[in-house]
Amino acid sequence: MDTVGTAGFRGEVGSEQWAPAARVRDMGTSIFTEMTELARRTGAVNLGQGVPELPAPPALLQDVADAVRSGNNQYPPAAGFPALREAIAAHQLRRYGLDYAPTGEVLVTTGATEALAAALLALCDPGDEVIAFDPCYDAYAADARLAGARVVGVPLVLDGDGFVLDADALRAAVTPRTRVLLLNSPHNPTGKVFTPEELAAVADVCREHALTVVTDEVYEHLVFEDGARHVPIATLPGMRERTLIVSSAGKTFNVTGWKIGWVCGPAPLVAAVGSAKQFLTYASGTPYQEALARALGSVEEWAAGVRDTLRANRDVLSAGLAGAGLHPFRADAGYFLQADVRPWGYDSGIDFCRELPRRAGVVAIPTSAFYLTPGAPAWLVRFSICKREDSIRKAVEQLAAAR
Ligand code: PMP
Ligand code: GLN
Repeated sequence: MDTVGTAGFRGEVGSEQWAPAARVRDMGTSIFTEMTELARRTGAVNLGQGVPELPAPPALLQDVADAVRSGNNQYPPAAGFPALREAIAAHQLRRYGLDYAPTGEVLVTTGATEALAAALLALCDPGDEVIAFDPCYDAYAADARLAGARVVGVPLVLDGDGFVLDADALRAAVTPRTRVLLLNSPHNPTGKVFTPEELAAVADVCREHALTVVTDEVYEHLVFEDGARHVPIATLPGMRERTLIVSSAGKTFNVTGWKIGWVCGPAPLVAAVGSAKQFLTYASGTPYQEALARALGSVEEWAAGVRDTLRANRDVLSAGLAGAGLHPFRADAGYFLQADVRPWGYDSGIDFCRELPRRAGVVAIPTSAFYLTPGAPAWLVRFSICKREDSIRKAVEQLAAAR
């Protein structure tokens, strides 16, 4: 199996006892690797990992090829190519009215993944606490742990057809050790977009307790439900000065393998992230950075088409899951939607996902992999919608037949 991760190894290496360092000891193999491998082995439709089957903009691909051939394949500047930093700053100003200086307030990273890891390494001392809304992207807890910090989950509450903020629970979770609040909107794994009222409530808590906010906005362009809108929390009063925005080209342009991400924020915070980042990768992705500097200038035209595809897929898959007797929840944005699998007799999403390839030829991901707190609903399962229409339709047909 094509795995990465220690999976808790302790034992002999050669003739000596060996164990990995405590910070990685029980990290194991990521659920995404495991489920993609399961899809490969069984030939099932892979609605697990959020890996797009959708095309990238042809002009962007041509620009990367040209950049590679032109011979500019050496290290870019550690902060990222000036043209890309300028394009990112222009994007933030054009879309959100957020003004960042391309030099000092914008940093290009190796995907949002490196940005998040470097941010927590830069912001947390050992023993500090990081608040994240639960469920959340699995890297958050791992990154906090690498930084010696502890992640504290604040459950999003299942209310009717969607997930909502419990502002009282958020307040109750803050302690004198809380340093950072991690906010992901649009949200993986639920497809939730935080409402203006929820953002205002989160901002109140952050200002009151002087928390630094790290926002993961990688799905910022993929809000496909009318009436929902992406609002960076940094645009709220008193928030720009305490917020680091993280985003990435991967989801917007369907190029998740390129790993070009970025951070925007006040200069001292960005400099701290840069201190950690330069010793993680230093810099990466020269030809991709060059090409993306151009593509970001007209991202709105491109993203409209991606949103149409995701909306159509959401509609087909939601209707298909309901038709197969499962219970889908509302998803307004991003790559994923949630379903309750109890109507098929499963209390455990893990059992459901283990049996689904054989039963229906579909791979999905148990949402329990994204929950930090015990007692979370075990019967939720995440399905990806960033796939070709024929993959979604095939999955729907097979789910109906397997009912
Ligand atoms: N944050 C979230 C919420 C994600 O879903 C992903 C996608 N894997 C990432 C961060 C990582 O982004 P990137 O691929 O740019 O590292
Ligand atoms: N963001 C993607 C997901 O949630 C996968 C990221 C990964 O494989 N690490 O499915």
